[in-house]
Amino acid sequence: MEAIYADYNASAPVSNEASAAVARALEVVGNPSSIHGFGRAARKILEDARAAIGRAVGAEPAEVIFTAGGTEANAIALHAANWRTVLCSAIEHPSVFSARSDIVSIPVDAEGVARLDALEAALARSVPPTLVSLMIANNETGVVQPVAAAAEMARATGARIHCDAVQGLGRLPLDMRTLGVDYLSISGHKIGGPAGIGALVLAPGAPISPLVRGGGQERGRRGGTENLLGAAGFGASAAMVVRALADQDRQRELRDALEAKIQAVAPDAAIFGAGAERLANTSCVEMPGVKSELQVMSFDLARVAVSAGAACSSGKVAVSSVLSAMGVPPDRAACAIRISIGSGTTAEQVERIAETWAAIYDRQRRKAA
Ligand code: PLP
Repeated sequence: MEAIYADYNASAPVSNEASAAVARALEVVGNPSSIHGFGRAARKILEDARAAIGRAVGAEPAEVIFTAGGTEANAIALHAANWRTVLCSAIEHPSVFSARSDIVSIPVDAEGVARLDALEAALARSVPPTLVSLMIANNETGVVQPVAAAAEMARATGARIHCDAVQGLGRLPLDMRTLGVDYLSISGHKIGGPAGIGALVLAPGAPISPLVRGGGQERGRRGGTENLLGAAGFGASAAMVVRALADQDRQRELRDALEAKIQAVAPDAAIFGAGAERLANTSCVEMPGVKSELQVMSFDLARVAVSAGAACSSGKVAVSSVLSAMGVPPDRAACAIRISIGSGTTAEQVERIAETWAAIYDRQRRKAA
């Protein structure tokens, strides 16, 4: 039986383009900071990748700082200045919440959208300098956040704004200037590049202070010899965002067909965040009365990879803080799984995911009866 991968929000499969770019970079000897010919060849790979990543988000190459992934990009933004107030939506990724201990959480509504009225009130009470951090789309539900509106509010009060766009790159059109954000975090392994590489993109004039100091790499903004292989792969996948965006309507149709099939079998199965704008590829779905760990294991036995809870940190399954922030009772949140599809997903695969879902549900209901 063919194995089906439906966990793209955890890591997308590495694209052929990224894999070829990494293979080419492996042939290059040298450190991008060396001034000899070898170093210059390595530097060219790095700078070409930086330019491709900048283009993917509407930024100049000099505004792109390579990091070890989305987690580090988020951490740098949350410490980019001596923020005295940091306001984050209640559904941010753990890499945002664990970056500081003084974060003020902004509630979300029942669909998982950050409440701008609460943000406005918090901004009015904030002690400057203030940073707002709002993700572009949630990793568990796919719910898209009102980042441009939040950025306008932040700007009106002199606050800076960071956007964790890790789940948005290649899935939503992303442009630093249209969004109006000061900092944008992105990551290679969510868009077909390797893991362990990401970037923090800065708007002109955004304050920045390095978390890791070293030999002056990345214009003194992030020390350490650059991850050339990672950057090459990330750059190659960033160059494909137009193709990735063009596939979103197809993925939305597949996702919607999947949800319709599930709800035909179990009309009481909630699709969390379905009332809001969502990423086209993500479905966070409840299987009433069946714990998510059991579902994930049963799917795995049927050779379908899905995830439970906040699966970025996989392994342990706690009740999702995202779903609790949306007011979902713990016993229902404990029965939610995330199905996240991507460019390699076919209609036949979606059919099998739906059949597997129905079979697991049926078996568990009969056991419980
Ligand atoms: N932000 C979001 C929204 C994510 O989904 C992830 C996933 O892991 C991260 C940040 C962390 O990125 P990375 O794995 O590159 O550190």
